[in-house]
Amino acid sequence: MILWLLACAARPVGGASLVVPEHVVIINLKEPGGAELILEIDRGVVVGRPAAAPEGVRVVDGGGAYAVPGVIDSHVHLALIDDGPARHGAAGIVAAVDLASPLTELAADHAPLQWIGAGPFVTAPGGYPTTTWGGPSYGVTCDDDASCREAVAGLAGDGARLIKISLGAGPDLSEAALSALTDEAHARGLKVAAHALTDDAAARARAAGADLLAHTPMEPLSDATVEAWRGGAVLSTLHAFGGSSDMRDNVARLRASGASVLYGTDLGNLQEPGVDGEEIDLLVASGLDGAAIVAAMTEVPARYWGFEGVGDLAVGSVATFLLVPEDPHRAPEALAQASQVWVAGAPVEGS
Ligand SMILES: [Zn+2]
Repeated sequence: MILWLLACAARPVGGASLVVPEHVVIINLKEPGGAELILEIDRGVVVGRPAAAPEGVRVVDGGGAYAVPGVIDSHVHLALIDDGPARHGAAGIVAAVDLASPLTELAADHAPLQWIGAGPFVTAPGGYPTTTWGGPSYGVTCDDDASCREAVAGLAGDGARLIKISLGAGPDLSEAALSALTDEAHARGLKVAAHALTDDAAARARAAGADLLAHTPMEPLSDATVEAWRGGAVLSTLHAFGGSSDMRDNVARLRASGASVLYGTDLGNLQEPGVDGEEIDLLVASGLDGAAIVAAMTEVPARYWGFEGVGDLAVGSVATFLLVPEDPHRAPEALAQASQVWVAGAPVEGS
């Protein structure tokens, strides 16, 4: 693991370059919320949070900046990013969830960016998105219980770590086929994400056993649908889909009902890598405060997806973080204004 980080961190990252990580202590930092922080880093990993700089270690002055753990973007399409995923990583995105790609993408290495992917959608013949933006490579088709179970098993064997389905956007699978599909996915430890933008689609997805909404639905959700999603999760993608008042209300109501909100941008659909300031503004407008937004970008998705060594800056975590000028708990817009980014224990030059 440590050798892997060393090797990766010495590579150029998307036009910016990293220096080889060294043993260093960064003083004069704050955590979101304002607590004083000193980070000791060695070979790409946080090795200490001492009360004072230890002897014999090179000291870097953090200048009073707030250190935000590397961000997790829970909705991206790595294969659709115009200039590749590396710039995303260099902008402080430590981990990402790929919510649909051609099958070949599942084998791609984007280190030091950690990622998991769905591979192609599991969809009905002619279903979304195989006849629209995605084309045939973005869907594995099935039409009954047995073939949909086979589709899930095949994707799991190819390395998919979650399953993506769609409802209400073209020919849909039957409820029985969808239920068999989610049952097969859950038996393999895979969550099922549903593209479901209407109230009816979101309700049917949940009834069939889907775990999360790949997007905030665009149509106002009924009280019954909101209640059904209690304990589920929603990936925000507000900016990519216009961020209407209906969408913002849906976020607020889903959250109030006990659904988790995870920050997701639909990068690949949008083309600006890194932290999306408009997404953050729209999350604020949906009622999330700064602490909730930081959590939706870090610890909540780390736990939800099972990413290791990310989501916080505890001892043992990957030393990828943003330095931002203001407390993001009070000024969440600062999350999109990093003065410097560290990736795997080294500052990104030019950040
Ligand atoms: Zn997407």
